[in-house]
Amino acid sequence: MASQDSVDHKYVYDFAEGNKELKDLLGGKGANLAEMTNLGLPVPPGFTITTVACKAYLETGREPDGLAGQIEAHLESLEREMGRKLGDPQDPLLVSVRSGAKFSMPGMMETVLNVGLNDRSVVGLSAQAGGNDRFAWDSYRRLIQMFGKTVCEVPGEEFEHALDEAKRAKGTQNDLDLDADDLRGLVDAYKKIFAKHTGREFPQEPREQLDLAIRAVFESWNAERAVVYRRQERIPADLGTAVNVVAMVFGNLGSDSGTGVAFTRDPGSGAQGIYGDYLANAQGEDVVAGIRNTVPLQELERIDKKSYDELLGYMARLEEHYKDLCDIEFTIERGKLWMLQTRVGKRTAAAAFVIAGQLVDEGLIDLDEALHRVNGAQLAQLMFPRFKLDHEFEAVAKGIGASPGAASGKVVFTSARAVELAAEGQAVILVRRETNPDDLNGMIAAQGILTSRGGKTSHAAVVARGMGKTCVSGADELDVNIPAKKFTVAGQTVSEGDIVSIDGTTGKVYLGQVPVMPSEVVQYFEGSLDPEHIDNALVRAVHRIMTHADARRRLAVRTNADTGADAARARRFGAEGIGLCRTEHMFLGDRRELVERLILARTDDERESALAALLPLQRDDFVEIFREMDGLPVTVRLIDPPLHEFLPPLEQLAVNVAVAQERGEDVAKEEALLAAVRRMHEENPMLGLRGVRLGLVIPGLFAMQVRAIAEAAVTVARGGAVAKPEIMVPLVGAVQELETVRAEAEKIIAEVVADSGVEVLIGTMIEVPRAALTAGQIAEAAQFFSFGTNDLTQMAWGFSRDDVEGAFFWRYLELGIFGISPFESIDREGVGRLVRIAAEEGRAARPELKLGVCGEHGGDPDSVHFFHEVGLDYVSCSPFRVPVARLEAGRAAVETDGSDSR
Ligand code: PEP
Ligand code: MG
Repeated sequence: MASQDSVDHKYVYDFAEGNKELKDLLGGKGANLAEMTNLGLPVPPGFTITTVACKAYLETGREPDGLAGQIEAHLESLEREMGRKLGDPQDPLLVSVRSGAKFSMPGMMETVLNVGLNDRSVVGLSAQAGGNDRFAWDSYRRLIQMFGKTVCEVPGEEFEHALDEAKRAKGTQNDLDLDADDLRGLVDAYKKIFAKHTGREFPQEPREQLDLAIRAVFESWNAERAVVYRRQERIPADLGTAVNVVAMVFGNLGSDSGTGVAFTRDPGSGAQGIYGDYLANAQGEDVVAGIRNTVPLQELERIDKKSYDELLGYMARLEEHYKDLCDIEFTIERGKLWMLQTRVGKRTAAAAFVIAGQLVDEGLIDLDEALHRVNGAQLAQLMFPRFKLDHEFEAVAKGIGASPGAASGKVVFTSARAVELAAEGQAVILVRRETNPDDLNGMIAAQGILTSRGGKTSHAAVVARGMGKTCVSGADELDVNIPAKKFTVAGQTVSEGDIVSIDGTTGKVYLGQVPVMPSEVVQYFEGSLDPEHIDNALVRAVHRIMTHADARRRLAVRTNADTGADAARARRFGAEGIGLCRTEHMFLGDRRELVERLILARTDDERESALAALLPLQRDDFVEIFREMDGLPVTVRLIDPPLHEFLPPLEQLAVNVAVAQERGEDVAKEEALLAAVRRMHEENPMLGLRGVRLGLVIPGLFAMQVRAIAEAAVTVARGGAVAKPEIMVPLVGAVQELETVRAEAEKIIAEVVADSGVEVLIGTMIEVPRAALTAGQIAEAAQFFSFGTNDLTQMAWGFSRDDVEGAFFWRYLELGIFGISPFESIDREGVGRLVRIAAEEGRAARPELKLGVCGEHGGDPDSVHFFHEVGLDYVSCSPFRVPVARLEAGRAAVETDGSDSR
């Protein structure tokens, strides 16, 4: 029995009842159809079944109570409005049944067109179309094909074979040459295929067709390809899809009909103008599938000026209404324009920046909103290198630059092979005639995608843009032979494993590996392009938005750098100091010998002399870095890894010693080294003698480093620059560890800096969970905390940071235990909680405590938002990620602190 609740629940909304804010409930497509309806645009009438109904169906395996009745009522009102009845033999109403989730998932879920056609209404449809039998039978065969494939899982190839067979019998390659009789025959063939696979006849009852199609759309939410896509795009798995039931309009009624896709600005570059594709005498799926080649939208002006002008008017209206780039699907039925879909359009990274800048100029949005509309992932994409082309490289083909970037790799022809080679660490380019949703895994694995068919709106293009992956589509000079695993182009044959390079901006295809050059955005950050004086819309937009981000952000951005060169580059990229200078590289190279002497020292004198030899070298390192960072803080971390990492590996040493002994050589030194390596061997070095523990065990080691830092600061200060050293103690778990190191360090510092004016801070990393949990005590001894979220993640989860990502994370991701590696993006609930506790308790104990983060998360966009929320003072990341962190810190401020009127 239906509960009161479910009887009352509203599962179905007429288009006139919704609006664009209701995406959670009506999905993106439904909400925007409603919005367009209410704006008075010509949308075919229809209704939307909510995501709530879908979720209820997916949970219980049946339609929720009340849904059937509501569909009936809305169908009746649709029939009244159209003056036709669903499947009526004389004058049938036909509907399309379309999926539409909150977030666009192009091609992932199902659509069934022409629902309501059967053996009798096909005749009525022909009469409606002025006696166009061919059209009616073509529509019917499309219904059986889509319905069979989507609703009843009949293998799609079988229908395609039958269609190929019909064309062959007719001696043609073009479906338009098939006449009404041929198509009637094809309908019979399709029905047999349907019956063979389903054990039943193709359903003739229109309402049954409708109900089954709706159910299939619900179920398509959990289809494998949709699940894979959601994981990739980080779309939550529990949203469900809405279902739109829309009166059919036909773009395949003759040459005065057609269908197309339009963008209000170029989604590739952001340039203003008219962008889109049009295909006469066709239905929407023909465009998206890239089956026939489209013409540029501008040609519609010549073909049907009235519809063209009307369309441009609606495009301007939509852009002004949505205050953003819109993409649109439309159909013209015998000279009458219908709007089938609109949404805020996907765009490339470059277009996102350029459009945001333009919209500010046009007064449609403010700078805060512009900042909100771009993101760090897009900026990172713009910092990728591009191909460096000299006369040596000539393009062998030119397709459509469908998604920018420069990609080179081995050619593969199947999704499975792409996945296989990528797993071996090889770069691959997936080459297909056209892609379909089954290619998704291969597209994810590939460096780039190259297709010989399809336009800017083909499946390959749309999905690649969404993933930020390089794609060239519609390179029709390529003759692709998938079964033979090769393609030919310009008289040459390219086989699986050969290298090609594709440019997703220009659409050009090259044989071999083309060298690359830095992006203009990087040149701008490096200071070699002046945004005020160059004619480059992208650089100007990036400059403007970055300037605003810097004005708005509360987080400072530092860098992780341990050479002067890295420090200098990061500074040009906008770093406001060094948040982590790892000193261990300073123990490598020709200094190994000194480190060996240190480890092998048998007496205090031997040890002290080794340290004394290291001191000036270390001091020089710091002088260089402090000079580069003149006036900015530099956090130097005392040595962290276990010392035996600086010795040769055990096996190698053992072999060397054995060989030398055999030859009768003097091996005393090697034997001593070998003994030391054996003595220092650890089962779990990550949890062993490293960090502060090392400093407490090896007398003089930290003292030498502290002295080198202080002396370097004084040297730099004497030279007139300003050094602001911050000494950081790694791997502290208890305040007593820090106190011991600090007492010794303070003595040295006081002695070295004396009255030089140099101030040296002492603080600690928070990277052991115990340190986070006792942060109140630790803050008593620390002037700053820097969260080492790499180790904190390792130790909070018990995941070996060097092993687990390759070993088993794929399974954890597959099971949804997490949506992204916690080493990549901070685990807010667990590791993030430790950060929050430590920040709060540390500040409670010492209000002026400086807080930062220097783990990899410091440059991860989502994590930057988290650190902003927790109230850290700065994030520190690798030089290349500094601009991304600046941008995201600005976005975080705008998003959590609200707009201001700047
Ligand atoms: C950390 O653990 O997050 C950190 C920055 O230190 P390292 O990566 O050097 O261990
Ligand atoms: Mg660490």
